[in-house]
Amino acid sequence: MNTIQLEQQHTSGVYGKRDLAIVKGEGARIWDDEGNEYIDCVAGIGVANVGHCHPTVAFAIASQAQQLVTCQEMFYNDRRAQLLDQLMAVLPDGLDRIFLCNSGTEAIEGAIKFARLSTGRTNIVSAMRGFHGRTYGALSATHKKHYRQPFMPLVPGFSHVPFGKIDKMRTAVTEDTAAIILEVVQGEGGVRPGTAEYFQAVRQLCDETGTLLIIDEVQTGFGRTGRWFASEHVGIVPDLMALGKAIAGGVPMGAIAIGPRVADLPTGVHGSTFGGNPLACAVAREALKVLTDEQLIENAEKMGAKFLDGLNSIQNSKIKEARGRGLLLAVEFKKEAGGARQYCEKLKENGLLCKETHDNIIRFAPPLVITEEQVDWALEQIKPILSM
Ligand code: PLP
Repeated sequence: MNTIQLEQQHTSGVYGKRDLAIVKGEGARIWDDEGNEYIDCVAGIGVANVGHCHPTVAFAIASQAQQLVTCQEMFYNDRRAQLLDQLMAVLPDGLDRIFLCNSGTEAIEGAIKFARLSTGRTNIVSAMRGFHGRTYGALSATHKKHYRQPFMPLVPGFSHVPFGKIDKMRTAVTEDTAAIILEVVQGEGGVRPGTAEYFQAVRQLCDETGTLLIIDEVQTGFGRTGRWFASEHVGIVPDLMALGKAIAGGVPMGAIAIGPRVADLPTGVHGSTFGGNPLACAVAREALKVLTDEQLIENAEKMGAKFLDGLNSIQNSKIKEARGRGLLLAVEFKKEAGGARQYCEKLKENGLLCKETHDNIIRFAPPLVITEEQVDWALEQIKPILSM
C-alpha cells in the first residue's frame, strides 16, 4: 500500500486532497514520494515564509527539544519572554500586549472574546468573502455559506457587509458593536486587497463609535505581502491583530497582539495549554530573525512585483485580472470560464504546485525565499498553461 492509499483508509474526509504525497522540502522546493521536484506556490497555505526546512529553524527545533518543550504560562519562560520582546520590535507601535496560542482560528476566537470583554458589547461585523477560521467564533465571522451552513446555529451577534464599502459598514455598526473584523487582503476570498481609503475610514469609524478594530493578519503577516504586516500598506494600526501561519517557521503557533484601547484583561478569563510553549517560541524567534537577516520581506516585495508582471503579461480573453500584494498573488478567470482546479492540475504535471480559492481563481503564494531564477522558471510553466 502506498502513502496515499494508507492515509486514505483512515483520514477524516473533510479535506479535498490532491493526488500527491509530499515527503521533503527545501527552500521553495518540495518533493513527492516518487522523487519528483516541485516549486511550491502553496507553502502550506502561507506558512513556509522562510522556506521549507530552513537550517536555522531546523536547528532551533532540535536544540529546544533537548532543553524544554512544554511550560504552561502559569510559569515564566526564557524563550517566551525573548519572543515577546522580539515581536515588539516588528509589530506596529501601540500593540504591546500579546496572547500566544496555537493556530489562526484560535487567535481570531480570542480576539473576539477580548473585544466583547473589553467593550461590554456583543455584536461583530465582518466582511463578505472574509475567511477567519473554522471554530465557532471564527466561523461566525467567516462568510462563505459552504463552511457555515452545516454547522448552524453559529454564534449570535455576527453580521457581514460588502468588503470595501464604507457606507455599508457605517450602517452595520451600532452602539452594540464590539468589533469589526477584516482582512487587509482577503486571502481565501480570492486574494482581494482593500484600499487605504477604506481601511482608514473603517479606523475612523471605530474611533468615533468605540468599536474595536480586529485585523486578521493570519495569512498576510510576517512578510507575505512585502511588509511585516499588510496593515502597513493601508496605514492603520488595529486594536487587535490576529496572527498565525508563518509566525513560527512552520511549527504551529498563533498570537493576538493587543493595543491600548483594549481594556486590561482579568486574570483567568482565557488561556491555553500549549499557548506560548517554549518549543514554538524558540522556533518563532529564529523564524523572525531569518526574515530580517535574509531580507525576505524585501524579497517578497521584489519577487512579488516580478511574478505579478509575468501574470499580467498572459494573453487569454478568459482571464479577468491578475492581482495581489507581495507574494500573495492570484489570477482570476471570468466566472463562466471556471476551471481553476484543472489549471492547478496541469501546473502540477509541469512541476509547480498552487491552489485555487474558487472555481475561477488560482492563488500563488510561494515561500518568501523564492529566487529570481525560480520565479522565471515558475512563469515559464504558468504562462503557456494559463494562456489555454
Ligand atoms: N484567518 C485567515 C485570514 C486565514 O487565511 C486562516 C486560514 O487559512 C485562518 C484565519 C485560520 O487559521 P488556521 O487554519 O491556522 O486556524
